[in-house]
Formats: sequence, C-alpha cells, structure tokens
Amino acid sequence: MIQDPVNVPKLFGSMVFNEDVMKQRLSPTVYSSWKQCIADGTPLDRSIAHDIANAMKDWAVEKGATHFTHWFQPMTGYTAEKHDSFITPTEDGHVIMEFSGKELVRGESDASSFPSGGLRATFEARGYTAWDPTSFAFIKDGTLYIPTVFCSYSGQALDKKTPLLRSMELVSRQSVRILRLFGNDAVKKVTAQVGAEQEYFLVDESVYYKRDDLKLCGRTLFGAKPPKGQELDDHYYGVIRPRVAAYMKDLDTELWKLGVLSKTKHNEVAPAQHEMAPIYNNANAACDHNQLAMELMKTVAERHGLVCLLHEKPFAGVNGSGKHDNWSLTTDTGENLFKPGKTPSQNAQFLLFLAAFIKGVDDYQEMLRSTVASAGNDHRLGGNEAPPAIVSIFLGDELMEIIDSIVAGSAYVDKKKKNLQIGVDVLPNIPQDTTDRNRTSPLAFTGNKFEFRMLGSTQSIAGPNIVINTIMAEELRQFADQLESSKDFQADLQKLLRKTFKEHQRIIFSGNGYDESWTREAERRGLANLVSTADCLPAYVSKKNVELFTKNGIFTEDEMAARNAIHLESYCKVIHIEALTLIEMVKRNILPAVSRYSDALSTSLLHRKEAVPSASFQVEETLISKLSRQNSALLDLILQLEKAVEQAPGEDAGYEQANYYHDSVLSLLNEARTVIDDLETMTAKEYWPYPTYSDILFSV
Ligand code: ADP
Ligand code: MG
Repeated sequence: MIQDPVNVPKLFGSMVFNEDVMKQRLSPTVYSSWKQCIADGTPLDRSIAHDIANAMKDWAVEKGATHFTHWFQPMTGYTAEKHDSFITPTEDGHVIMEFSGKELVRGESDASSFPSGGLRATFEARGYTAWDPTSFAFIKDGTLYIPTVFCSYSGQALDKKTPLLRSMELVSRQSVRILRLFGNDAVKKVTAQVGAEQEYFLVDESVYYKRDDLKLCGRTLFGAKPPKGQELDDHYYGVIRPRVAAYMKDLDTELWKLGVLSKTKHNEVAPAQHEMAPIYNNANAACDHNQLAMELMKTVAERHGLVCLLHEKPFAGVNGSGKHDNWSLTTDTGENLFKPGKTPSQNAQFLLFLAAFIKGVDDYQEMLRSTVASAGNDHRLGGNEAPPAIVSIFLGDELMEIIDSIVAGSAYVDKKKKNLQIGVDVLPNIPQDTTDRNRTSPLAFTGNKFEFRMLGSTQSIAGPNIVINTIMAEELRQFADQLESSKDFQADLQKLLRKTFKEHQRIIFSGNGYDESWTREAERRGLANLVSTADCLPAYVSKKNVELFTKNGIFTEDEMAARNAIHLESYCKVIHIEALTLIEMVKRNILPAVSRYSDALSTSLLHRKEAVPSASFQVEETLISKLSRQNSALLDLILQLEKAVEQAPGEDAGYEQANYYHDSVLSLLNEARTVIDDLETMTAKEYWPYPTYSDILFSV
C-alpha cells in the first residue's frame, strides 16, 4: 500500500505556538513587546500577557484543545502537569472558552507531594508555576501545554528549569565579557546549545507484562545470558525491521508536530536497542524537547504493542542506554565559540574558551561526575560500555599537539613547518569530524562542540547542563577579571593560556578509558574516581561546589542541600524497591517453580527406577541435587535480603543510608542474581516462570 507522503515542513511545529504563529496572531505592538521581554529577560506587562493568552487560547481551541496545563519539571527529573479546561459558565447556563493573562503567567499549584528536599514545610507546601516565555507553548492530546518554572513562595527553585535558565543567563554574561576583550562589540547574547542523543530499548508488550522487575523497576533483576547477545555487532546500524521502522516513523511525526528537531534514528549496539538524535537547540528548548522525546517514545510504543525501556541498564551482559549531551556556545551573531576560526584573533579566542572549559572540568570534576550519578547509571559507568566513572577530556591529536606546544612554550610547528604564535598566526585546520574519536572518553571534543557521554538515559539533561554552563561561566569570569585590567593583552593572554593548559593538563586523556591501567594512571594524576552514587553524593554539598553555585547565583545553599537530599532519597528508594521486587518474584514464583520442576524430575526418576532399575539416572540425579542446592542457597540469600531491607537505616542517617544500600542491599541483589541465573539455565523452559533474555531481547 502506498501511503500519502508526509508534508514534513507543513507538519513541523504545527502544534507549537511559535514565533510565526505569534506574528500572525498578535498585534504588532504585543508581538514586539513579547520579543523585547525575551531579549531583555524582563517580565511581561499584564495587558500584554492577556492578549497573548487570548491569542493562544483561540489558536489552541481551533486545533481542538479543551484544556490547558502549566507544564513543569520538578526535582524528580520527570515532568508534571495538571489540566484545567478553558470553560467559563455564562449567565444563561452555557459555557464559553476563556483563558486569562493571569492564568497564563502564573499558576497556583498545590504540588505538595513533589520532593522539595525540605525546602517547603508542609504548612507552606504550595508552590507556584510561572510561564517561561522563552520556551514555546504547544498542544498535545487536546491540551495546551505552557512550559513553566516551579518555585516555592519564598522564591526557592523547586524544579530543574529555574537553575538551567539562571545558568544560561550567567554563561551568556561572562562569555560576552570575554568577547569584548577580543574587540567583539556586536554580540549581546551567547546561548548554550545542546543536542541530546537518546538511547532506548523496545520490547514486545507481551514479554514486558510478564516481568514484574521490568514493570516495577524498569530493569531485569535477573536473566541468564542468552546464547546470542551483541557479540556479532550485527545490530549496530543494522537494517531497521519493519515493526521498529513503523514505530520510529510514528515517533518522528509526533516529535515534528511539537517542533522537536528529530534528525537521526538507528539501531544501537545491543539487540532491541535504538537511538534518536535531534538537531541541537538552545539548552532550555533542548531540555524540554528531550523530556517530550522520552515521553513520546513511551506513549507511541503503546500504539505499536511495544514497550519502550529508558532504564540505563535494563539487561545485564549487553550495553545499557545513555544520553550524549553535545554542548557548545553560540553568539547571537551566529558564531560558534568552540569552532576554531579562520583568523588569528578568532583562534586565540577559541583557545581561551577551550582553556576555560578544560580548567572548569578539572576544577569541578567531582560535581560533573555527581550530576550523572543515579542508581541506574551506576550499572553503566565503568562497565566497559560507557565511559569510566573518572572524568577526563579527549581533545584529538591536532588540538593536543597545539596545547602541548603552548605548554612547552615552544612555537607550534604545523605540517608545513611554519611557526605558530597564538593570536598572531592561524591555527591549522582542526578536522571537524576526526575519525579517531575516542568512544571511551567521557568528554570528547568533536570539532566544534563537546560531547558529554556520561549521562544516563532516563535522566533530565538539565542537571549536567546547569553544571557545564556554570563551571564555564565561573572560569570565564576569572579570565575576564584578569584580562580586563591587562596592559598588554596579547602577552597576558599567551601567559594565561600557557598557565591554564599547564595546570590542568592532567584532565586530558587520549588513551583507552576502558583500560584498567587508566584507573591507576588517573589515581596517579590525582583525578577523582567516584565509583557509585553513594560516593558521589557528598560532592553536592562540598564547600567548593556550594561556593561555586551560590556565588554565581545558580543555587542557594538550601537549594543544593535540597537537591542532595532528593538524590540520596531516590538512590535508596530505587534499591529498596528492587530488593522488595526480587524478594517477591523469588518467593512467589522462582522457588516454587524450581521445586515443582525438581518434584517432576523426582517422580519421573522413581518411575524409571521401578520400570528399568538398570538404566542410568545420572541426568535426573545430578539435576535434582544441583537444583535443590541452588534453591536452598537462593532461599538463604532472599532471607538475608529481607533482613537487610528491614534493618536499613532511615533517612536521618544521611550518607550512611546510601552506603548501606550500596554495600548491604545491592550486593545481595547481585549475589542472588547469580544464583537465579544458574537456576534458570537448569530449569526446563516450561517450568521457568518468566520470559528469558532471548524471549525479551528478540521479541520485536
Ligand atoms: P555524531 O555524534 O554521530 O558525530 P553529529 O556530530 O552530527 O553526530 O551530532 C551529534 C549531536 O550533536 C546532534 O544531536 C547534533 O545536533 C549535536 N550538535 C551538532 N553541533 C552542535 C553544536 N554546535 N552544539 C551542540 N550540539 C551540536
Ligand atoms: Mg554522539
């Protein structure tokens, strides 16, 4: 059947109240007031807000919307919404559709059940949402979605968007200061640009619903290694099967309608694993869009009888899912500040931004590491499939040579043997897409941007981008403070670059990050190796990091403590739920199943002994004794696990609680898993109560 071709340009953004729509539907005065507010970052006048609300509502109603919602991103990392209809009763018993400026701009949310990390006492539990006019409203499932920030009445940020916006504003301000030093007076604003590549798994719903661990924990807690995994590398970039292709097409259509720039789709390394990459956008829109992408990946899957798994490690033994956060800075005059330029001055400027990045990552490596820490991501980082838990930067050979020569104080000699002086000569062309890109590096320079590869697939990209923007701004501020008072800019710049590269060289690493020797080398270099989330949590509230964020106005100390408390709580809760799930699965299904199978074997053994006493009974006898032994071992571990969960310290134990869950609960989960996997391989398929890895990974 030939389908109607999709008119993508017409479809794209058709459900978004974007600039085009505003231009069409708002009066010229209202439109330009809105533009001005966006440019200056000032609040909207009430009457302007009213006109915009009205236009938004008319547009939304024409497109079939009946409700609106303030859409926000609480500290859970997910999104939240509460729908209100546009209806307003009239005196004659009818209704009309209304939406006021007040409703657009501010929402009262009795969102007292969202984690606040202690920022709100229950008596003042209400928070409010406020429209973020820098992110466009859109329609989804008959509701007008208004992107908002979420704050407490005392003004504390209760969400992920507020600090992200603060950090974008900050990095813009400090970047502009640097640009002025290079005589660039035209730039008014610098924007953090982000492209977030998203990995995911697709499995058939029939197997999903039979696995309580997938349903409750998002990952399998056991499952013997299937005969075939990813060894043949036949899935990566392989032909996309029709059912998956139909899903991806549907997903693209939905994303495009919402203005998400979905660009690339392909099969990933593990069986059943795939990826979607969008074209980059400003960090705020990229964050909203990544949230939408994750949500739509799940809802579109349902229409296809599939389930989309976003967990970082749904299956042991094959790759887990991550997210690559591609980050750069772009000026409002269209210049990418991480693109080596064509003139000596542009190159000196590029090297200064590069130096700031390198110094920032080195100075705040623990913070950067902690921002990707979660119970789920702990299974990936350092597991030879994702970058190690040690933060380092990969620059590529060309750039390394340049930096080495700056550090050595010698003139860089390029291929043509020409001496090169920073700020005087032009750098050699740095290849945009170097082929030797180091896939094992957590942070790689890829020609005109940095790719941060440590993010977990479920996590909001807000956290990591808040950190990158802030450390970048902090270092740029330090540089600007020094250089603004310089009498000899060229000479001082040269000196500053040399000093910075020299002092922070240790964070640059070009070798194989998966290799064990790197762990030792990193230790020798004094780099942090925070293996698990439990190790990372203290970084959130370490003096250095609190100072960084408070000084720069990104978080207050209370806000940081709150975030720390929420991460800690969530880490412990995740492991707690996993433990309870495993206990239930084992007690109610696995132990009885193995017993039943042993019983069947025993019955058959007795019958056969009676019928043919001289036959060999080795298979049955060996199996029965092995199964019994392992089933008792499993029971023993499950009882230990039950006890461990019961004895777990409460929230007031702080880090001790996290360490306990890591050392005493997670370890038992892993031990039990080994025994279960062994039992699975010995138990006849018809007796085993759960779909196996082969059933799940090859279900689509
Ligand atoms: P690959 O990772 O396969 O080399 P690309 O380099 O084309 O692919 O891009 C990967 C991701 O990086 C995409 O999401 C893309 O939008 C994003 N990206 C490209 N350029 C930039 C940039 N200047 N700033 C931020 N993200 C970018
Ligand atoms: Mg990539």
